[in-house]
Amino acid sequence: MSVGVAILGSTGSIGRSTLQVLSRQRDRFRVVALTGHSNKDLLAQQAAEWKPAFVGLVNGGTASCLVEAATHPDVRIVVNGIVGAAGLEATLAALRAGKRVALANKETLVMAGELVAQAARDGGGEIVPVDSEHSAVLQCVAGRRPTELARLILTASGGPFRTWGAERVSRATVAEALKHPTWTMGKKITVDSATLVNKALEVIEAHFLFDVEYDQVDVVIHPQSVIHGFAEFVDGSVLAQVGFPTMELPILYALTYPDRVPDQGVRRFDPVAAGTLTFEALQPERFPAYVVGREAARQGGTAPARFNAANEVAVQLFLDEKITFGRIAEIIEHVVGRGTGDAGRGKSLEAVLAADAEARRLAEEVACS
Ligand code: NAD
Ligand code: MG
Repeated sequence: MSVGVAILGSTGSIGRSTLQVLSRQRDRFRVVALTGHSNKDLLAQQAAEWKPAFVGLVNGGTASCLVEAATHPDVRIVVNGIVGAAGLEATLAALRAGKRVALANKETLVMAGELVAQAARDGGGEIVPVDSEHSAVLQCVAGRRPTELARLILTASGGPFRTWGAERVSRATVAEALKHPTWTMGKKITVDSATLVNKALEVIEAHFLFDVEYDQVDVVIHPQSVIHGFAEFVDGSVLAQVGFPTMELPILYALTYPDRVPDQGVRRFDPVAAGTLTFEALQPERFPAYVVGREAARQGGTAPARFNAANEVAVQLFLDEKITFGRIAEIIEHVVGRGTGDAGRGKSLEAVLAADAEARRLAEEVACS
């Protein structure tokens, strides 16, 4: 009997890669539900090919079709490929309904990590990361006891501005920010990779996924994106997961975890073709938004939700050419700095949503001033 899969955000980069993987695994999985947002024609095309029981188009801001898809009785695995806070309710609902959530939508965990973990405990659901760095870590720690893990090292490509001077970066255009050196992804995460907000979100994601303290999560710049993550154990031994950059492997692993299944779809690794691998320390002064993200993580409470919300607003304004690239970090810093000490308040959905709304309002206000 094949396993039923729902794909939230099937028209996006992660959604399309997921369908690509499933097209090679038709005897193991079947598509039960698909959702899209604005790309109606592509969604219709996907629906015609996959004939899912449920197809949902989110329009006018209603998220109920996401929850419906995520909790469909024939679905065992929900691939959450939605971008931003809009994916939160569906993740919570799927976990409460006992489903596996193959999570690409990291913003969900950053906003409400405690609530997501609680929903999984309440409903018996589980989160398996799709994000390549976290998939790498999971592959390194699978089968080990949590007490054996000492430290995680997440790799970051450094984005398109890794070698640029600060002044030039602050004036970078949208087209320049969208020119990622190693990955082809949706626009929001591509901008997040240029500011390194993406890596701050991933540090918070790792904290919640692997139950590690923030000082146990390090980041290193690795421009080739061949090593996706390292796990260091208490005896000093380090494991890494390696491969040419593709999201199809982490997606497949999130679907089959803890098993591995034969798949011929991705380019086989070849160390000679990979060539020289290099590593550089992350220079915090060059990536101010990353620093603010780590500070928000340390604050806890609703600070990560505020960080995420401010970033979503700032990135959209930048993509709409309403603010310069340099303003993204300034806006986030302002919003996070204005937060009240509310450690522990991240545990209620109302508090998280209120912090999210307030941060969005403040970010818009700062951007216009
Ligand atoms: P994308 O922009 O290509 O796709 C986003 C999808 O979400 C689309 O299907 C869109 O229709 C849908 N969507 C957008 N707004 C929505 C809303 N308000 N309600 C419901 N649906 C909505 O983005 P992506 O690159 O596929 O990224 C998706 C998520 O995966 C992000 O959280 C990103 O950080 C994460 N991620 C992506 C990659 C990658 O390689 N693309 C890698 C790691 C993590
Ligand atoms: Mg990643």
